[in-house]
Amino acid sequence: MQGCNNYCSYCVVPYLRGPEESRPIRDIVEEVRKLADYGIKEVTLLGQNVNSYGQANSGRTPFSLLLRMIGQVKGIERIRFTTSHPKDLSDDLMQCFADVEALCEHIHLPVQSGSDKILKRMNRGYNREQYLDKVDRLRNIRPDISITSDVIVGFPGETDESFEATIALMRKVRFDNLFSFKYSEREGTAAVGLDGKVPEEIKRERLQYLQNLQEQHTLERNKTLEGHTEDILVEGTSKNSEHDITGRTRSNKIVNFRGRKDLIGETVPVLITKAYLHSLRGDI
Ligand code: SF4
Repeated sequence: MQGCNNYCSYCVVPYLRGPEESRPIRDIVEEVRKLADYGIKEVTLLGQNVNSYGQANSGRTPFSLLLRMIGQVKGIERIRFTTSHPKDLSDDLMQCFADVEALCEHIHLPVQSGSDKILKRMNRGYNREQYLDKVDRLRNIRPDISITSDVIVGFPGETDESFEATIALMRKVRFDNLFSFKYSEREGTAAVGLDGKVPEEIKRERLQYLQNLQEQHTLERNKTLEGHTEDILVEGTSKNSEHDITGRTRSNKIVNFRGRKDLIGETVPVLITKAYLHSLRGDI
């Protein structure tokens, strides 16, 4: 699907891509079947706001139904989707993480800010409590789920207190990874007219602080996998050593390990021996 109906106040996507448009469910399932026939094992469903898939169509085909149908395609071992909007993360969709075996235990769920005042100014359509509630529910359904997110720092009106609210939310959730950016104005968006612009120097300081904290959390989360055996879908040779091959856990973490190149394209069990910030090390 493409396009977006949300009009977050900082974002140009709805102006550039237009309103949400979803491909028919049959087309997608058929395409995935063909991919599986070619030997493809992993598919990623894409959309600016992918979990509102089907809502703009008269038939209201929910995203969870699409996931359940693709989950039954023989040969597809891994399903991923991105990007999700927290307000469209339904109970039924969350339940798929328990019911659909091929659905990988990872979700990218952009929060953008931990402050209700800023979330309102961003026109995100949820508040801090609702976001945290969805995280709790996801973890109840799938305790080992990996959660990644996006944060914008220095949005107009962001005070020290609102920034602290974002930091407190990060400490509570402990994201597996976080993509963070300094706010920058996009011409034609509603946020351009907002007061309370944050000076560049403060944005830089806040971003640095937040990224340092996230590095601690990422390493902490990666270390929980040490000593565990993970299924790795081998994607290629490692960038660092020609003797190593590389792939991802279902939770979307990179793992490097010794192995033959003919394992590329296969799924192999790998014991995680060491966790780093950006990857894991393991043994078949
Ligand atoms: S940030 Fe995402 S949800 Fe918001 S308007 Fe842009 S594409 Fe849509």
